Amino acid sequence: MTGVTTVDCPTCKTKVQWNDKFPFRPFCSDRCKQIDFGGWAQESFAIKGSAILDPELMDPEQLGAELLEAGLIDPKLLEK
Ligand SMILES: [Zn+2]
Repeated sequence: MTGVTTVDCPTCKTKVQWNDKFPFRPFCSDRCKQIDFGGWAQESFAIKGSAILDPELMDPEQLGAELLEAGLIDPKLLEK
């Protein structure tokens, strides 16, 4: 065990390590983020209906922490 959390890119299902190697996590790349992020994020946040998180105003590290805290990064959630 390396202790590295891995998630599937919501767009292309590539394995993405939850570390600095993937600054666009949970997406594998900026391209996948641009393709999917709007719909996925808004949908997820709408379902949660709690904290207001604006991806455009938050840096990736902070956003990642917020998403983990909100339980939005559960790999099961990302597998559609
Ligand atoms: Zn991808």
